[in-house]
Amino acid sequence: MIKLLNTTKKFTGGEVVTTALNNINLQIEAGEYVAVTGPSGCGKSTLLSILGMLDVPDGGEYWFEGKNVAGWSEAKLSELRRGRIGFIFQSFNLIEELSVDENVELALEYSDVPAKERRERAAHMLDKLGIAHRAKHRPSQLSGGQQQRVAIARALVYKPAVLLADEPTGNLDTAHGEEVMRILQQINEEGTTIVMVTHSPTHAARASRTVGLLDGAIAEVATATAAI
Ligand code: ADP
Repeated sequence: MIKLLNTTKKFTGGEVVTTALNNINLQIEAGEYVAVTGPSGCGKSTLLSILGMLDVPDGGEYWFEGKNVAGWSEAKLSELRRGRIGFIFQSFNLIEELSVDENVELALEYSDVPAKERRERAAHMLDKLGIAHRAKHRPSQLSGGQQQRVAIARALVYKPAVLLADEPTGNLDTAHGEEVMRILQQINEEGTTIVMVTHSPTHAARASRTVGLLDGAIAEVATATAAI
């Protein structure tokens, strides 16, 4: 479903050119759960941004569901992204002025889903993530683990094919982090492809495959051999 071919990304700041991604070749099948690991600065977030079409490569190809999207305009990319790709981040990025359910509904704002169905889908997703009883609260009234569950609900409410997660447990204590990992595993078992950046070997072990980056290149690929 996803294929990167010789994908390269460079950043230029003044005289300095940083090669964040150097000739990446990576294929991800529908339904996979891939963990991306590696030391700070090795290109993990850049890789996720390119997969999520938040940034564009400056070399190579990016095939998403059979289309080479390298070179597509920002408008075309955002249209494709909106329907197919969900994101969660270390920071939950919820809007404090809105209630929890409004935050989730907002993800459907630019879709053609009617208002009534938006409300129903948001309520269903909050229920699925065990947070329906907090629907009318403001984000800051929730614990970190609960806020991340709302962020997951928001990412999943438009039923994306791929969920991209950048250090989703980075701001959580161990117990809440584990809870989020269990949720991600369940979402993957239900069919959503997941690509997750993580520093935690324990969390990476939950994925079906780990891709290790070093200096912008793929250094190693490990496939899970035993169920955790
Ligand atoms: P990681 O997520 O593994 O910590 P990043 O993808 O954030 O790594 O960064 C990879 C490299 O690219 C780093 O050297 C970083 O400094 C550089 N980089 C990332 N984003 C930018 C940017 N917007 N401008 C300049 N350099 C950047």
